[in-house]
Formats: sequence, C-alpha cells, structure tokens
Amino acid sequence: MRFRRLSLTGFKSFVEPAELRIEPGLTGVVGPNGCGKSNLLEALRWVMGEGSPKSLRGGGMEDVIFAGTASRPARDFAEVSLLLDRGPEGEAEVTRRIERGAGSAYRVDGRDVRQKDVALLFADAATGAHSPALVSQGRIGAMIAARPAERRQMLEEAAGIAGLHVRRKDAETR
Ligand code: ATP
Ligand code: MG
Repeated sequence: MRFRRLSLTGFKSFVEPAELRIEPGLTGVVGPNGCGKSNLLEALRWVMGEGSPKSLRGGGMEDVIFAGTASRPARDFAEVSLLLDRGPEGEAEVTRRIERGAGSAYRVDGRDVRQKDVALLFADAATGAHSPALVSQGRIGAMIAARPAERRQMLEEAAGIAGLHVRRKDAETR
C-alpha cells in the first residue's frame, strides 16, 4: 500500500484546502517553526482513525478544527482525505470529517463507512493511526528521558504485546 495524496480542509492551521502529493521515494516537508509540519503528520494519523485527542496535541477531538485567528473566523468542520494506491486492488480514497457538535464520520470513495472498516483497511499494512512508523516530534527525547517502566511500556507497544497485560488481568479475575 502506498500513500499518494493527503488533502486537508479546515484541519488545524490548514484553513484553506491544501494538498500534499506523496511521490515515490522520500518526501521532505520543510518550513519555519509553527508553519504546520507536525499538523500534516497529525492529519495523516487522524484520517487513519486516531481516537485520542491528546496524541494530536488537543484537549478534545474538535480541537482539530481550525479555531480561527485575529483575522479569520473559526471553521465549523475539518476534513482530511488520504488517497491510497493498493496495488492490484486499485486506488481508494479514505475521508474523515468532523463537524462541531456532530462528531466525526468516515467515507471510502464517497460511501459512508464505519470507523471499524477504516481500521480494517489498514490492519494488514504497517500503516494505521498507531503505526510504529509514525514517530511524533519529541518522542525520541521522551524515550531517552523516560523512567525504565515507561520505557518498557513504549517497547511493549512497539512490539505489539501491550494488550497482553489487559488479557492477563482479565484471566486472573476469572
Ligand atoms: P515546529 O517546527 O516548531 O515543530 P511545525 O511546523 O511542526 O513547527 P505545527 O506544530 O504543525 O508546526 O503547527 C503549529 C501551528 O498550528 C500553531 O501556529 C498553532 O496555532 C496552529 N494550530 C494548531 N491547531 C490549530 C487549530 N485548531 N486552529 C488553528 N490553528 C491551529
Ligand atoms: Mg513540529
């Protein structure tokens, strides 16, 4: 699976429709502090189903909607689309949209789908909102500064075994 294009409208600082084309090879995003580089990565994670506002540096999920500036009013929705090249299965475009007071909804190629369907779309690839391939800013520093128990938790998450503790607890209480 290959990402081809990320399109944003009203997502965080991307108030006007914006498009990031992802060509084969390495894509670099450069720009001054605060120009929205991290917001792009968060948009990518959000459209793939991120459910935690905190990991998108927000207090609530609606914080991803453009909040307005001194000269521009806030928006009442945010929408992000990700165009995928799925090889022999062809292209698919996943869209997530959130409206103030109405929560978020997903579409694949224009058809309404459940969040679960989006999760399944990414289940077999090294993609998805919790892919260890997505390394947020400050994460490396946090890992170095972490206490041993916290570092172990990060390693368990990366290894995909963090859920085993929950299952062990569940088994112990039976
Ligand atoms: P750095 O180089 O410092 O890491 P960056 O390019 O990664 O910067 P981001 O963190 O992506 O920058 O962007 C931060 C900007 O996005 C800030 O100016 C912040 O005000 C703006 N921003 C974040 N959320 C919203 C929102 N909901 N509405 C409007 N602007 C927002
Ligand atoms: Mg950044």
